[in-house]
Order: sequence, then C-alpha cells, then structure tokens
Amino acid sequence: MQTKQVALVTGANKGLGFEIARQLGQKGFFVVLGARDAAKAEAAAATLCGENLHVRALKLDVTSSEDIASLPAYFESEFGRLDVLINNAGVNEPESEPRIHSVRKTFETNVFGAFAITEALTPLLKAAPAGRIVNQSSILGSLTLISDGQGGAWTKPGYTASKAALNMLTVVAAYELKDTKVKVNAAHPGWVKTDMGGDAAPLDVQEGAKTAVELATLPEDGPTGAFVHLGKTLPW
Ligand code: NAP
Repeated sequence: MQTKQVALVTGANKGLGFEIARQLGQKGFFVVLGARDAAKAEAAAATLCGENLHVRALKLDVTSSEDIASLPAYFESEFGRLDVLINNAGVNEPESEPRIHSVRKTFETNVFGAFAITEALTPLLKAAPAGRIVNQSSILGSLTLISDGQGGAWTKPGYTASKAALNMLTVVAAYELKDTKVKVNAAHPGWVKTDMGGDAAPLDVQEGAKTAVELATLPEDGPTGAFVHLGKTLPW
C-alpha cells in the first residue's frame, strides 16, 4: 500500500488542474494526473517529476465509461488507496444554434463525468482515513448570484446550468456521506488566467488552485456540503 496520501486530479494536463496537482504534490501527496490525451498526461507528469514531486500520468477522459470503469481497480492495484478526488475537468463550449448541442456536450463533461467518477471512487474514498471530494465549480453556478444579475455577460445556459447541477451533486453527495469521514465540497477558484479564463482574468493559477487544495486538505472539523472561495462560503 502507498504510504503517502493519494489524490486524483481530473483535467490535470494544464490550467488549474495542473497547478492543483503541483500544490498537492508539494504538500506530500502522491498525485495521479488524469488527462483525456495520454501524451499530455505524460508530459504534465514529467514536468512535475522534474520538480521532485511524486506523480503519475493516467489517461482519463471523464466522458468515457471505459476509462471510468477501470478507475477502482487501478487505484486498488497501484496504490491500495485513494484519499482525494478533485473533479476539475471542465469545458465552456462555444455556443451555436441549436444551443442544445453545446448544452448537452457541456453537461457530459462538467456534470455526468464528475458524477460517474465520484460514484466509481466513493467506496475507496470511504475507506480512506480522511477522504475528500472537491468539485471544481464556478460562481457562475450560483443561482443566488446569477439571479441577482451579477453574472452579466458571462451567463451561458450550458456552462452556468452545468455548474449549478454540479453544486447540487455536491450537496447530495455530502448528505449521502454525512455519516462517513468523507467531506464533499464545491470550489470556486476565482476568475483565473488559463485557456478557459483568458488573459484578462485577475488571478494567476497559483492563487486559483488554492481553494481546491484547501478543500482537499480540510481537517476533521472542516465543512462538508459547502461552496467555498478562498476560505469564504459562497451562496448556492
Ligand atoms: P482549462 O485550462 O481549459 O483546462 C480544462 C481542463 O479540463 C483541461 O485539462 C482539459 O483537457 C480538461 N478536460 C476537458 N474535457 C475533458 C474530458 N472530457 N476529460 C478529461 N479532461 C477534460 O480550464 P481551467 O480554467 O483550468 O478550468 C479548470 C476547471 O475550473 C473547470 O472545471 C472550469 O470550469 C473551472 N473554473 C475555471 C475558472 C477560470 O477562471 N479559469 C473559473 C471558474 C471555474 P484538454 O487539454 O484535453 O482540453
């Protein structure tokens, strides 16, 4: 059995996922970097190995039922444990008419992918001494803030509804796991400079990764079923 705590980060080949993997590695985790392109996963893992972090690459397309079905046996045989799951992989599909196509595509990754991976890995997380699930959400999934008009030009039906659905899955999973050691929380990273966030974003990835890393390493008396940005609770 792996003696270090083991974390899986989805969509870890670039952007926030890559930086979350780096920060968890710096905190002493053994980190599995999931990416839908095996070569990109290997390249990202090689970079972090070069920083003397303990990481491994894994081909994981969060919309592939085959990839997801193989996860429990992979973690059991390679590590004998899984402590942290970060559902970070996400898309913000360009919209074209009819919008139902981009809405469906967005839900496949942002909602169904995260749900299927959580379902597959929950038994291993329950067996861990301090299992943590972090769903990488967005303030654009907050019904409260978007209905106040604060989302403005950023609101899109696929992306916003997918993050609102991910938020609800967070609440439901936290409830289902309330009598276990597993904590389930949603993170808003902030508006972050990545391929998705763009150059105008005010935060760099180091800052943007912090919320997910904090939620992945919560102490026993930390929250579960919360929506958080840099230690502050956000309204659903
Ligand atoms: P990014 O740079 O575009 O990275 C997205 C990551 O998700 C990439 O690694 C991408 O892989 C991966 N991905 C997409 N579809 C996938 C699939 N089917 N299977 C596996 N991986 C897949 O975006 P980011 O800004 O780092 O976003 C990370 C998360 O933070 C997302 O959930 C996003 O919604 C959320 N978020 C970001 C911001 C922001 O301001 N940046 C704000 C709020 C929330 P490829 O390289 O193969 O495409």
